[in-house]
Amino acid sequence: MNLRRDETPRRICREMRQIRKKRKDRKEGKERKRGRHECARWCYAVRKRSAQHMSKGKHIIIDIGHARGTGARGNGMEEHARCEIIAGHLADKLRAGGYAVTVLDYPDSTNRADLVATVKAANGISRAAFGISLHMDAASTTVEEVDEEGEIFVRHEVNPEPHGAHVCYVSNTGKRMAEAIAKWLCTLLPGRASKAVKRGDLYILKQTRAPWVLVECGFITNPEDAATEPQQIAECIAAGVRHYFEEAI
Ligand SMILES: [Zn+2]
Repeated sequence: MNLRRDETPRRICREMRQIRKKRKDRKEGKERKRGRHECARWCYAVRKRSAQHMSKGKHIIIDIGHARGTGARGNGMEEHARCEIIAGHLADKLRAGGYAVTVLDYPDSTNRADLVATVKAANGISRAAFGISLHMDAASTTVEEVDEEGEIFVRHEVNPEPHGAHVCYVSNTGKRMAEAIAKWLCTLLPGRASKAVKRGDLYILKQTRAPWVLVECGFITNPEDAATEPQQIAECIAAGVRHYFEEAI
């Protein structure tokens, strides 16, 4: 977008405001040293251009949910293994978009130890812009049966019907990120009535300092959800992240 200097720009990004202030200060003799933002380019920013400035260098933490073999199972898959693949694609896509990414994973521990270690590591990363935990839902039905001696016992059976993704949050910032991710992900994996859900009971959401969301990437017990390409799921989450930072300007 090329604008002449005498035209009024529709939108001026933060970087441009800093450059203008420094120029004004220098003119008035307030600042003699040349600052870092000495680029001569006129950064009349349309929304998209500003978004690029805002996204660069943001630090995103990706948490692979559960320890290996301790999450949900279905359709020949295991939750940690599937989330690990999604995390790999998501990290690649975010890095390609200019974000710094840290992937947290403690595969050889227990669920509790994995959670505690994840929170400790996440809170040790200064200036993390966001945390994203990756999980998959599972559904089962309870079946009551009577054995030969007339005793009732309960059996849990996989229920392949429930399907669809949703995103959990606890803070207001988390809500905006959850809605941005859900907008894309729930189009790929529809089925849940509530796409962004406030969950004050989830340890990872409560204990982490950075804003955090927990993404349930569909049901591992539903054949269609389980057959969805991890790469597509990662693309939807990455699109949500980009969308969030563009809207947050
Ligand atoms: Zn899970």
